[in-house]
Amino acid sequence: MMFDHPPQREWIEEVGRRLELGNELTFTVEEFARSVNEDDIAGLESFLATLVGKGTASELHSYRCPMTACRRSLPEGSTLLECPYCHTDYQEQGVQPMPMTFYRLKGALSRDLRWMIVVHGMNSRAPWQEAFSWEIASRLKYSAPILIYKYGWATIDVLVAPYHRHLARKLGHRIREAIAQARLAKRTDRPDVIAHSFGTRLFSLVLEDENFADLTFGRIITAGSIIHPDFDWGRHVKSGRIEAVLNHVGAKDGSVPFAHYTIPGTGPGGKVGYTSEAAHNVRNCAFGHSDFFKPVNMKALIANGGLWHSFLTRPLDLFMPEGLFVVRKPWRGMCWPLKCTLRLVGMALFLVALPFSLARRLLDP
Ligand SMILES: [Zn+2]
Repeated sequence: MMFDHPPQREWIEEVGRRLELGNELTFTVEEFARSVNEDDIAGLESFLATLVGKGTASELHSYRCPMTACRRSLPEGSTLLECPYCHTDYQEQGVQPMPMTFYRLKGALSRDLRWMIVVHGMNSRAPWQEAFSWEIASRLKYSAPILIYKYGWATIDVLVAPYHRHLARKLGHRIREAIAQARLAKRTDRPDVIAHSFGTRLFSLVLEDENFADLTFGRIITAGSIIHPDFDWGRHVKSGRIEAVLNHVGAKDGSVPFAHYTIPGTGPGGKVGYTSEAAHNVRNCAFGHSDFFKPVNMKALIANGGLWHSFLTRPLDLFMPEGLFVVRKPWRGMCWPLKCTLRLVGMALFLVALPFSLARRLLDP
């Protein structure tokens, strides 16, 4: 959303807070200015006018009594000749009722948390999954389920692209099953998705696969993403496959920048951001590759007002969190000789290690 004057973060936070609580949805610019301790009335008016333009708020016009001792707002349909409260006759006093503008936020635009699909990274048997299930389930209004998708134990297999497609097809079928169950239970058939690391690659393949064009999604969060920065999110938003995408970037991520050297078809989206205008890139300066799911961080992310919670529930016009950034330049990947060499090395490693991998799979299915 573009503003003429950039709004203060506190203003947006305040609007988000009111929508979330459903409180104080109607106010004058002066009242709003007091609640955010702001003197810049003109700036606030322009901000509120933009919300009106976007349909997040509506503007109502009314009058108030001009007498200093009264100043009450006159009920709709009053004659505007006499105050029904202090009984001042305006003509007699030679005064006029004062026009005033109210803004009313449209609370209905905030959105419920719905059921959710989580696609984790490689070999993630971490305890965070339990903690995550608990935290998120306690926030879902109708105790809607989360599907934590497990795809087993991936190792050298990630070095070859056909294996990704194999896993992505399995994921697609599992999602289709879950959506069918949701429909039966009269839930929305557009789940939200949280994907991490290699899970982001698999989810992007499901989106690109024509065989799964029937699957539609709500809001998508990618964390520690290894999706190509130039991935065309805009196309999927436009076609209605997904509602929106949040790319949560860990500035200290030490894995993502190297993923595309070893894993074919991937890129450092979780480090440099997505170039698509449709994406919301947000950088956390302290996070590494897996810090999103540390219990203390995760709790903060899905608490009221936390980044993920806000993204999943607020009108997106109001989603302007700290760390938001835009990537203008297209991403330049590797030159092709390097790319070919690395793929050949990957393939060779795969073939050498295959027997061991198969043996391990038999022992640890
Ligand atoms: Zn009055």
